[in-house]
Amino acid sequence: MRFTTYSVTVAASLISTVSATASLSQVCTTAYAKAHLPTNPFGITIDPNSIQVSAVQNYTAADSTNYPGGSFDYCNVTLAYSHNGLNDSVLLTYWMPAPAAFKKRYLSTGGGGLAINSGASSLAGGLLYGAVAGETDGGFGSFSTQFDAVFLLANGTVNWNSVYMFGYKAHYELAEIGKAFTKVFYNMTSSQKLYSYYQACSEGGREGFSQVQRYGGEFDGAIIGAPAFRYSFQQANHLYSNLVEKDVGYYPPSCEFEKIVNLTIAACDPLDGKTDGVVSRSDLCKLHVNWDSFVGQEYYCAASTGGGNGPFKRAVSSTISRAGGSLPTSSTGSTTGQATGTTGGAGGAGGAGGGMGGFGGGTTTPAQNGTVTKKGVEVVRLISRGLQDLTGKQVYLSYQPATSIVDGATTYNATSKTWGLDISGLGGEWIVRFLNLIDSSTLSNLDGWTYNTLRDYMIQGLEMYSDSLQTDWPDLTTFQKSGGKILHYHGESDNSIPTASSVRYYESVRQIMYPGESFSASTECLQEWYRLFLVPGAAHCGPNTLQPNGPFPQTNLQVMIEWVENGVVPKTLNATVLQGQYKGKNEQICAWPQRPLWKNGVMSCVFDQTSYNSWQYKLDGIKVPVY
Ligand code: CA
Repeated sequence: MRFTTYSVTVAASLISTVSATASLSQVCTTAYAKAHLPTNPFGITIDPNSIQVSAVQNYTAADSTNYPGGSFDYCNVTLAYSHNGLNDSVLLTYWMPAPAAFKKRYLSTGGGGLAINSGASSLAGGLLYGAVAGETDGGFGSFSTQFDAVFLLANGTVNWNSVYMFGYKAHYELAEIGKAFTKVFYNMTSSQKLYSYYQACSEGGREGFSQVQRYGGEFDGAIIGAPAFRYSFQQANHLYSNLVEKDVGYYPPSCEFEKIVNLTIAACDPLDGKTDGVVSRSDLCKLHVNWDSFVGQEYYCAASTGGGNGPFKRAVSSTISRAGGSLPTSSTGSTTGQATGTTGGAGGAGGAGGGMGGFGGGTTTPAQNGTVTKKGVEVVRLISRGLQDLTGKQVYLSYQPATSIVDGATTYNATSKTWGLDISGLGGEWIVRFLNLIDSSTLSNLDGWTYNTLRDYMIQGLEMYSDSLQTDWPDLTTFQKSGGKILHYHGESDNSIPTASSVRYYESVRQIMYPGESFSASTECLQEWYRLFLVPGAAHCGPNTLQPNGPFPQTNLQVMIEWVENGVVPKTLNATVLQGQYKGKNEQICAWPQRPLWKNGVMSCVFDQTSYNSWQYKLDGIKVPVY
């Protein structure tokens, strides 16, 4: 595979002097920005007349999952460019620190769900560390227009330019233009080093890997959470839980799901050596949980109104297009931080999202009073097992036990007073729009489907998008040779992207890049520049309300800056409890393949072969390698 690279040179004649003591108001003008544009990159024309500039004083970013809060001034610069030969327009926004606060850093940020950016909530993270922070609209028409809105030109006709932009091109251009613009804007000399970073989660994590896999040297450090990579499998897999319910012939009430998950958490919490409400060893949980012991346990949930926001209920319809949580637009940022959406559940609640189901606001779910059934437990056990074809061969991996159930969320019919199928919105749209090329977000039923149907759709997606959306290239040699670092993290109770998906990719990179080396030697080599951290109890790209005492790695950008600029290797990952009675407490997260184990209140990072093996899936239901 070859990739085109191009360099962006600076038009020296345009440079006027700006010292670090220049004020924001001196540089934050349209005239200054226009006079400090980089020269056009290969194949691209920047429109000087598109530039819009505004100075913002005393912006306050609230404490977020991705950065501690803070205040700063910045210059908001938006510009447009087009691809030569295409009559298109791509918008970029850069938040530029005041010259005195600029620390020779650039940060690209990514999206979530079917969005290619996360707006202000992610840009603020860069400014707190003296970085210029950028986002792109992908050429989709506006910063709030998502990929699915522009993917089809007509039924049956794909807008392939949008696919490649979403797949990887838009992010490459965002970073190349952003880095060049930063150097001119702050009058850096050619010999001065501009450190470049990437930070995003979920779909934004996939976007990050799309760069790391193709472009060595683009970023010095990439912070990637719960990436939605191996896209054809990941997106279709949202329908697996619905198929399990269809297969078992049982649609558990939301309260029964909740009870089973809470019983699992309670049973598995102590296996890590510390009874704190957090399943820090979901692998031990998988090995030892006794599902059958939950049968017959009583549950009760009070009546509730509305379809959204509970951990076991789908989001209301207004969040469908954002696929798991609308993006914060508040100028104060968001407590759930960037990219909460992605391919499914909202991070914070470990729950709602991705739904298109029949229950919007105003609908009442009745009080639920019952006992856990054998069939309910069987549904949860099969969800945890992962997709197998009709002959029992494993096709794909799945969520860890103790994870809340989002894909499998059911819907209550007030007329028939029964619970029934609620097709995952993300999974459904993937099949209808992106595979069947029909301009609709809704898959109406699963009539005639078997597990093999889902397998075949996974293979079809692989064939259609292996060079654009799939993002599973396991050879990162060019990135590694350029000195790049990767900080990859994934919540251990992620309910939208299976934690095991990150483990599989990490292990694939290890085996592809260090063939013939022993397990420990290859792991040691990989950890010099690429480290994976599984976050105990965390949900999708955020803390988990069901396991509130778990930590979250809030200071990742600071950690990465220390690693890249000062050589401080994150042997463990710094994290903070962000909610509940221990809010603010510092914890450290072990680097994979080591796992945490507490004894007398003291954590050790240990390796345990049986636990390690529980993360590995032999995907013999697919005949080509699955990285
Ligand atoms: Ca525990």
